[in-house]
Amino acid sequence: MDTETTLQFEVEANASPVPASEREARIADPGFGRVFTDHMAMVRWSRDKGWHAAKIAPRKAIEMDPASSVLHYAQEIFEGMKAYRLADGSTALFRPEQNARRFQKSAERMAMPQLPEKLFLESIEKLTEIDRDWIPTAEGGALYLRPFMFASEVFLGVRPAHEYLYLVIASSVGAYFQGGAKAISIWVSDDYTRAAPGGTGAAKCGGNYAASLVAQSQAIEKGCDQVVFLDAAEHRWVEELGGMNLFFVMDDGSMVTPPLKGTILPGITRDSILTLARDEGIAVREEPYAIDQWRADAESGRLRETFACGTAAVVTPVGTVRSSKGDFTIGAGGTGQLTQRLRDRLVGIQRGEHDDTHGWVKRLF
Ligand SMILES: *Cc1c(COP(=O)(O)O)cnc(C)c1O
Repeated sequence: MDTETTLQFEVEANASPVPASEREARIADPGFGRVFTDHMAMVRWSRDKGWHAAKIAPRKAIEMDPASSVLHYAQEIFEGMKAYRLADGSTALFRPEQNARRFQKSAERMAMPQLPEKLFLESIEKLTEIDRDWIPTAEGGALYLRPFMFASEVFLGVRPAHEYLYLVIASSVGAYFQGGAKAISIWVSDDYTRAAPGGTGAAKCGGNYAASLVAQSQAIEKGCDQVVFLDAAEHRWVEELGGMNLFFVMDDGSMVTPPLKGTILPGITRDSILTLARDEGIAVREEPYAIDQWRADAESGRLRETFACGTAAVVTPVGTVRSSKGDFTIGAGGTGQLTQRLRDRLVGIQRGEHDDTHGWVKRLF
């Protein structure tokens, strides 16, 4: 399968793209995940041919046989990343090789073939380039890229599929939570868990999200924005939200975040925040933090801030926590100082306004 090193993307431009005036209207206030671009990237894999048929093509519906195995056994993984306009007008990605590697790890866990890093990066870069006019210029706007792969073999037997389709679609997005870095409220799920030891919690797969939705609906019913999951074994340790990692800021200026032991998704934003905090000389501990401790620390004032982080919303303060045992407020219920500083720092690097000392920003054009 040495085709991998020589495989080239064939480019078929969309012959009837969305007219410029219509595109401008759609990306003016795009929200999240509803406005899509003119093209998509696609690569196929089969047991016989390996990776093949790489192309950038007009975005269109994909025809699927009802027996396609993903529809039955959910062999599917994805990534989420953004292409940004920098202050100087150029366009960049943020640590895209980290997404490529995590995509490979997710594939490994789901018994799927690993897409070579080079193909992953090329698919992202070529799609961003051809759809560059879809990147919103408004504050907080970006082109959200969604690479994903699923089992496309027509077969109902239970085993890893022999055929897969890898696709990348792109969506013009605004700020994820309306109103920017406003503090969110979160509901502690005590009857549902997201991931168990030995399960798929560290893989970015659709199945994890499917399993989290009933708890997320419960959070909404309770008047909260998001759900926070506890560990599956003891229902004691705080893990993460449905799609964001958590950080806790203590009154001595130190920070705590739950450790990566297989049940938490290793966020690239999480890793970047860890690095930025350590650059500032902040002591950050990756250690388990219990729900009862969280409540006690919030009440005693030992805990100053809590924030959630992920590509879509970057850094989002947590203001209120609700649970069946009662509610508690973190700090003054708004955006903490360190939360704001780390958010500004990270966004500043992503936008090319702060020094990129770690070489995280990959300029495309
Ligand atoms: C994607 C994701 C995150 C955040 O990861 P980033 O790389 O920072 O975007 C956190 N938790 C879950 C469950 C996720 O799926």
